[in-house]
Amino acid sequence: MYNPEMQIAVIGGGASGMAAALQAAWRGASVTVFERNAVVGRKLLVTGSGRCNITNDGASAERYTCADPEWMAVLLGCFGVQALRGMLQRIGILVYKTSDGWYYPLSNSAQTVVDAFAAALSLADVSVRLSSRVASISAGENGFMIQLAGDGREHRETFEKVIVAAGGRAYPALGSRGELFPVLEGLGHTLLPKRPALAPVLADLQSLKALLGIRLDAGVELWDGKKRLASAAGNLIFTEWGLNGPAVMDISHHISALPGRPLEVSLNLLHFFETEFQDLLQQKRGTRLPVKVFLGAFFPPKVASLYPSMNNISGNTPLNQIDEGSLKGLIDTLKDTRLSVKGVREFEYCQLSAGGVPVTEADPRTLESRKVKGLYLTGETLDVVGPCGGYNLQFAFSSGALAGMAAAATGDK
Ligand SMILES: Cc1cc2nc3c(=O)[nH]c(=O)nc-3n(C[C@H](O)[C@H](O)[C@H](O)COP(=O)(O)OP(=O)(O)OC[C@H]3O[C@@H](n4cnc5c(N)ncnc54)[C@H](O)[C@@H]3O)c2cc1C
Repeated sequence: MYNPEMQIAVIGGGASGMAAALQAAWRGASVTVFERNAVVGRKLLVTGSGRCNITNDGASAERYTCADPEWMAVLLGCFGVQALRGMLQRIGILVYKTSDGWYYPLSNSAQTVVDAFAAALSLADVSVRLSSRVASISAGENGFMIQLAGDGREHRETFEKVIVAAGGRAYPALGSRGELFPVLEGLGHTLLPKRPALAPVLADLQSLKALLGIRLDAGVELWDGKKRLASAAGNLIFTEWGLNGPAVMDISHHISALPGRPLEVSLNLLHFFETEFQDLLQQKRGTRLPVKVFLGAFFPPKVASLYPSMNNISGNTPLNQIDEGSLKGLIDTLKDTRLSVKGVREFEYCQLSAGGVPVTEADPRTLESRKVKGLYLTGETLDVVGPCGGYNLQFAFSSGALAGMAAAATGDK
């Protein structure tokens, strides 16, 4: 049952806020979105390098880090990839899938995604209040008082329900700066310290300095002494301060959780084609093919030259003149190059922030706070980390949509 008189405030016009507002308005509620930026969807515009990697076929609970995997399974069971695709289609966004399951809009343009959401909000008669920053929220007997700060003026408005979709602390220039977390703490929620996630990793490149600027696919593992903390695989970029790209970004929240700890990252350059590597080696082992030419079948020239030299083998050495021990050493290095980790880059350079409110403090079916009735928490407000590949937008849209549906429903506040 839905109540057309229901007055709902959505704080934040990002991915989760827009999904929440639409779902609530489609059910007849009177919805107001407060967005501090002069436009909605500012962060969406830069996602997927401007192409908006909107979801992923593999979006299932085990791909996310949060306090309770079962919580995530329930949420995705209520609003998963198919439900999101249906919602996107309803507002005029068609998607396609890459061979590895990453979804993008057919237009390959994040701008068209934002335009479609903005148009849908307008068509659904959502009141979108731009350049409106919410400074605080207080809960009372009959609903919530929202205090706005803008244009040097301050004023208050009341709503029956409030959806907090104000994001986390990643990339603050795009609008999400985390200033409502102390407010949520004041309302009774736990606040886990916000820290960078999906962040570039600061590492001492040591002997790999020659690879600066190189981009390749690799497996990575994060080690704390003899304990393996995390692993991931994907694109990797060597930079002057360390490593970038999805492979290391996906493990970065484990690094930011242990500041100052002497961690190591292990690179496995054979991760994606060990079988092909071993097959070609078997064919060419007895020949005079120079080792760097053999390695060139798999790697850029700088890698093909550097790795033999790291093992005291000249790149021009024929494969049939390398002894077994040296060859094994070369392969071991390709499979496990250790670099010491110095930390991660700051919020300004990361795609996500971990920390915030633990998921267990919201109902996974409705995203309603378990501390304050009528208050809903969505997207990066909650402590959820998904890997690169569309997982975080899926969570933002899923949580927003469910909150919007639930907030529009009648019943006790
Ligand atoms: C560079 C970059 C690339 C990314 N690429 C991808 C990708 O391709 N795929 C993917 O799945 N994820 C990607 N992400 C992550 C994804 O963008 C986030 O997970 C998602 O945007 C979170 O949605 P949200 O609604 O919780 O927060 P946000 O999108 O941050 O939206 C929150 C909104 O609330 C507003 N706001 C904040 N505080 C207030 C306040 N006090 N009053 C009023 N308004 C307020 C903000 O201005 C903002 O518009 C990327 C992130 C970055 C930074």
